[in-house]
Amino acid sequence: MELIKEDQQLFKLTAEDIMISSEKVAHVQLNNPLEHALLILVTSGYSAVPVLDSKYRFKGIIGKSSILNEIMGLERFEIENLTTTTVEAAMQTDVPCLPKSADLLTCLKALIDHSFICLVDDKNYFDGIVTRRAVLEQLNQFFHVNEKDLNQ
Ligand code: AMP
Repeated sequence: MELIKEDQQLFKLTAEDIMISSEKVAHVQLNNPLEHALLILVTSGYSAVPVLDSKYRFKGIIGKSSILNEIMGLERFEIENLTTTTVEAAMQTDVPCLPKSADLLTCLKALIDHSFICLVDDKNYFDGIVTRRAVLEQLNQFFHVNEKDLNQ
């Protein structure tokens, strides 16, 4: 384990180094109807996307399962809710976010329970996301490059 402690490159990485920046992240806005969010999710293939307000501040995330819950009635699917319910009413707000200065291990810990983490500045403006895939790629590269030394 000496090797891991000494690997400066890996532990110098921050969320900013591996993030997908805000302009490349699909998002929806608070007042969009669920129908719009579902369209974005289905066409992008993502399971969830960030929700922002009109000033691009982070407000929560909306995913396919929250939308399904919203249209699931007791006896039938209430498809009309897709147009009458806003993203704001159905989104998840209890999600952790991090600053883009967060180190790799902080990202790793947060990504145990989430497939991506939103990055925000001190005024909650949205900077981008870090995905579980991006962190796993860094760890995978590290362990493969150092495989021989770790086996000794
Ligand atoms: P991945 O690790 O690439 O499979 O991404 C995991 C999750 O992160 C996806 O299912 C989405 O919820 C979210 N995600 C990844 N890339 C983007 C993106 N460019 N825009 C919006 N959400 C994304």
